Amino acid sequence: MGPLEILLGLIVVVLGWKLVANRREFAKLRRWAAQPRLTDPPEAGGAWGEVFNLLHRHRRTTLHRRRQLAQLIVRSRRGAQALPYGVAVLDADYRLDWCNDAAEEHLGLDAGRDRGQPVANFVREPGFVEYLSAGDFRTPVRIPIRDRNGAPTPRTLALQIVDFGAEEHLLLSQDVTGDERLESMRRDFVANVSHELRTPLTVLAGFLETIQDLKLDAGRVRDYVSLMAPQAERMKRLIEDLLVLSSLEHAPAPPPTNRIAIRPLLERARQEAEALSKGRHRISLAAEGAHDLAGAESEIASVFLNLVTNAVRYTPENGEIRIRWRSSDDGAAFSVEDTGIGIEPEHLPRLTERFYRVDRSRSRETGGTGLGLSIVKHALARHNAVLEVDSKPGKGSRFSARFPATRLLAAAPPVSTHSSRPVAG
Ligand code: ADP
Repeated sequence: MGPLEILLGLIVVVLGWKLVANRREFAKLRRWAAQPRLTDPPEAGGAWGEVFNLLHRHRRTTLHRRRQLAQLIVRSRRGAQALPYGVAVLDADYRLDWCNDAAEEHLGLDAGRDRGQPVANFVREPGFVEYLSAGDFRTPVRIPIRDRNGAPTPRTLALQIVDFGAEEHLLLSQDVTGDERLESMRRDFVANVSHELRTPLTVLAGFLETIQDLKLDAGRVRDYVSLMAPQAERMKRLIEDLLVLSSLEHAPAPPPTNRIAIRPLLERARQEAEALSKGRHRISLAAEGAHDLAGAESEIASVFLNLVTNAVRYTPENGEIRIRWRSSDDGAAFSVEDTGIGIEPEHLPRLTERFYRVDRSRSRETGGTGLGLSIVKHALARHNAVLEVDSKPGKGSRFSARFPATRLLAAAPPVSTHSSRPVAG
């Protein structure tokens, strides 16, 4: 064997050894890279060591970024969960990608099960389908909320699509049942007020026209004017009640320190009842307890007067009306009991609604505006008090205003009286 062959042999041995070493380092690299978790790179020297270190640094940065991204996604989803809206992320073809709990509830969805479903599959309401195909998403569309069986409920949902990112969309949903109810109450209120004012105004305008057009003698004109006066009075009462209601809604809460002397107010209520009754009813007043109320006197006076005048107006001649005040350290109650026409149970929950009347013509004949009990309810609520009604049709009613102990002030000096003054029928 010559020197050249020896050299070649050596080269082959060295190359072979290098190859084996490289394969070993490569296998180490593969094993290390295949680990899902980031671990320190295997020991290696020379060029392999450098490669390992470079790859290790790169992997560490990538994993760090991925972790940050994952945290960002979790935070944005947590943010979307906390929103008071339903939020559903839709892809370019309006297919569900993700949604929060509120959207699941509003739309009857299951984020896991329904992923990839087109939005029109789970919101089938014709109004929404039209909205989707029209593609004009500037204003929300309103649809009824359906129950589990697909039947519409009295609740309303507002849906709006908002575009974001590259051809992605958000479907926002909000339960607007409360807004709808307020809006419908506002509409009813305006319609009712207009109607209530128009009726007496029409009568007044008719009389005025007649007086203007016909040559009437002075006596006739006086007759007409006396027919016009109650209509003007009715309009005045209505406007006064509307102003009281409005001030109850907007005025600051009555101060809890302002003393209302109860006895004079009770006496005033009895006198008003007698003046309205004109001797047609037996009216009594009984008061027990040594407390005054804290709050706004004009509001409490209005509660007492509305309740006693209602009792007179809805109690036929010879009936009895009992006005009562009772206070103890636990609270106080003002009640008016009558032996009048009573109220059918189905009307009771609605009595304090504005313009709600059991019998329209009777209310108007007796000078009612339909706002009395609404004023009572508002004024009481401002004093943390509640109105309770017990009634038997044909037998009579008892309206009670209950005040909590926190609204009572000890009267000085404590008194206890009982006065009953029947008025001849
Ligand atoms: P109104 O001006 O019509 O009396 P209210 O708000 O004071 O309006 O009362 C609402 C309705 O409740 C009345 O229209 C009447 O039908 C009924 N109501 C109120 N008080 C009595 C009562 N003491 N007895 C029978 N019905 C009553």
